[in-house]
Amino acid sequence: MHIKKVAVVGAGTMGASIAVALIGHGFPVLLKDVNQSTLEAGMARIDRLLESRVKKGLPPTDAQKQKAALLPTTDFSRFGEVDLAIEAASENIETKRAIFADLEKHCSQQAILSSNTSGLSITRIGGFTSTPERVIGLHFFNPAHLMKLVEVIPGLDTSEETVSAALSFGHALGKLAVRVEECASFLVNRLLGRYMNESLWCLQEGIASVEEIDSAACRYVMPIGPLALRDMNGADVGLAVACFNYQEYGERFRPAPVLEEMVKKGLLGQKSGHGFYLYDPQTHRRCGVNPDIESLLSGFFAGSQRRGEPFAVERLFLPMINESFLSLSEKVCAAGDLDPALMAGLGMRKGPLALASEIGLADCLNMMEKMFAKHGERFRPAPLLKRYVWGGRKSVI
Ligand code: NAD
Repeated sequence: MHIKKVAVVGAGTMGASIAVALIGHGFPVLLKDVNQSTLEAGMARIDRLLESRVKKGLPPTDAQKQKAALLPTTDFSRFGEVDLAIEAASENIETKRAIFADLEKHCSQQAILSSNTSGLSITRIGGFTSTPERVIGLHFFNPAHLMKLVEVIPGLDTSEETVSAALSFGHALGKLAVRVEECASFLVNRLLGRYMNESLWCLQEGIASVEEIDSAACRYVMPIGPLALRDMNGADVGLAVACFNYQEYGERFRPAPVLEEMVKKGLLGQKSGHGFYLYDPQTHRRCGVNPDIESLLSGFFAGSQRRGEPFAVERLFLPMINESFLSLSEKVCAAGDLDPALMAGLGMRKGPLALASEIGLADCLNMMEKMFAKHGERFRPAPLLKRYVWGGRKSVI
C-alpha cells in the first residue's frame, strides 16, 4: 500500500516531532489530541520546531507551506482519509486500548494502524483491534524530525504487506527503517539499557568517577557519556525503564541501586537542576559534576574498596556487545542491520558488532568470562559469541 496521508494521535514531545518529520517530507497530516488546550500546546511545539528549522536555513515560505499541510483536530471525523495512523499518546496501555478501538472505528479498512510505544507489546496492542494484521510498531527516536532511525516492529499477527509498507514509509521519511522482531524495549533501547546500567555499576563500585566514565565513552564511540545522557532523560524515567527491562529479561538487567538512590534524593538530572552534574537553572547548561554524588556513592563502598579494579572502557560496552549476540540468536534483527541501527539511533561512531571485531571476538569472550566470574550474570557470555569464537570467526558480518 502506498501511504499518502497520515494521522498522528497525541501532540506531545513525540507526536509533534513526528508531525514535523512528516510535513517536512510532503505528507499531509491530521494531528489529534484530547482537547483544545493539549492540541494548542502541541501546535506551539511544532511552531518552535519549525522556527528552529528556519533558523537553520529552511526558507520561511517552505515552513509556512509545511504548516499548512497540518490539520489539528480533537476528533476522528476525518480519519477515514488517512492511509496510516501513528499513535504517539501517553505510554499507558488503557490509553492505547481506547485509541486503537477508535482508530479501528474511524479509519478505512485498508489503513495501517501503528504505535510509537517505547515498550508496550505490539501484539497486545494489535489484540485491541479485530484486524491485528494491519497493526505495527513504528518506533521513532526523540526528536523524530532529526533522528535517522525508525524501528519497524511487527506483532505476531502483523501481515508481511503491512511490514513492507511500513518499511517503505520509513524510507520515504528519509530514515533508516529497520525491521525489529518484538522484544522488550525493542532493539536499540534494549542494547542501550545494558550499557547505561553498566555505567552506573562502574560508578557505584567506585572504579571510575562521573567524568572518567563519560569522557571514556565519548572518546571511544559515543556522542554523549552515559551519565550525562541519564541526566538528560531523567533518572526517574531511567529507573522505570531499567525496572521494566529487569522484569522482562531478569538478572543481567538488574538495575544498579545507585539509580534508585538518585531518584529518592530527587537528583533527577536536567529537569531538577541536579543529577550526576549540576545545571544552570536558566540555560539548563551543564556546569560541573554534582558534589553531592560523592557522598551518595560513599554509602555504596567502604573507602578501601574504592578503585579496587582498573577501569577499562570495554567494561561499559561488553554488556551491550553481549546483548547484541543474544539479540542475534533470537533473530531480533538481521545481523547486517544491527550496527547501522545502533549508529543511527544512538549516534555511535561504530556499532557493537564492529567494536566486538575490533576488540577481537576471542578477547571479548575472554574478558567476559573473567568478569562473569567476578560480577555474575551481567557478563554471562552469550552462547552465539562462544560459537563464533569456537568457529574461528573474526567478525560477525
Ligand atoms: P507526552 O506526554 O509528551 O505526550 C503525550 C500526548 O498524548 C499528550 O499531548 C497527551 O495530551 C496526548 N494524549 C493522551 N491521551 C490521548 C488520547 N486518548 N488521544 C489523543 N492524545 C492523547 O509523551 P511522549 O514523550 O510524546 O510519548 C508518546 C509516546 O511515544 C509514548 O508511547 C512513549 O513511550 C513513546 N516514545 C517516547 C519517546 C521519548 O523520548 N519521549 C521516544 C520514543 C517513543
